Amino acid sequence: MPKLAILTYHYIRTLENILQRRILGPLRESFEDQVRYIKKQFPVISPSDIDAFFNDKNKFAQGTYVLFTFDDGLAEHVNYVSPFLESEGVEALFFINTDILENLPVVPQILHYAFALYPAQKVFALLEKLLAEFGREGELPIEFHGEIIRNISLVKRFFREQLDHELAKKILLFFYQQTLGKDFQGLFSEIFLTRDDIPALLSAGHQIGGHTRSHIFLGRPTPQGLLKKEIVDSLQKLSAISQTQIRHFSFPYGRPGGGEVDRVLKQEGVDFSYTTEVSLNSPSADLFRLARRSVYEKDTIDEIRAFLSGNHKD
Ligand SMILES: [Zn+2]
Repeated sequence: MPKLAILTYHYIRTLENILQRRILGPLRESFEDQVRYIKKQFPVISPSDIDAFFNDKNKFAQGTYVLFTFDDGLAEHVNYVSPFLESEGVEALFFINTDILENLPVVPQILHYAFALYPAQKVFALLEKLLAEFGREGELPIEFHGEIIRNISLVKRFFREQLDHELAKKILLFFYQQTLGKDFQGLFSEIFLTRDDIPALLSAGHQIGGHTRSHIFLGRPTPQGLLKKEIVDSLQKLSAISQTQIRHFSFPYGRPGGGEVDRVLKQEGVDFSYTTEVSLNSPSADLFRLARRSVYEKDTIDEIRAFLSGNHKD
């Protein structure tokens, strides 16, 4: 039986970009080695082959096929990844948050760059002050004697899935305006792609998919009005920009929502939704729970090969 291995990348760094020195993600050199290795050992499929993989059971012989995906609409995806993939003859799927097309930074990147560019204690202190201004004094889950790494992950989780999403967004936007946006001129365009970049992605043979408006965590109950704003509006925006039906959607943070989220996605014409469950997909997989493996900075070619060969450990 054929299997589809879907890989997903976020930041792909170069040390020349000093703003990304403390951001986590594979370096360009590792990424290039990975793509070239995979191309040599496995058939790489294009987004336009996905339908046939799941619906035309006789078209694909035994073996593992690989699909490349990139989440979050990052600047390096258009400045570097797309031209590199084009030179390698690889077509990929890019999932984009639409708030970034309106010059609004979104929660995960604000926190990644905050902790990369400022001392953690400074970030914690300002977030505590902003929370207090919104009547949420003392809620930042910092352990007084805790390790910094642990406190950072508690703070990320708090803004991702504990605090109300709209409030989390508001507080982090204030944070961004008072810090990153002021101290690092042009940072926004160093982090995110723009609306004008989308045609270039499409003309390189790539496809785009939805990733909500502002990277909302869907793994908790979400009010209907927020689903409309986050899913319907963002899919319609991408569709208007690209002049195509948007058929692919990746769940922010890899976490699917419930049946209501699936219903809204289907109603908007989405046919395939992607999680970050680490596994290979068979042709009979649930098309709304497609598995993908995130590739991290620490991953070696051996580990990626083990995953593609079906011998991975979670
Ligand atoms: Zn994401």
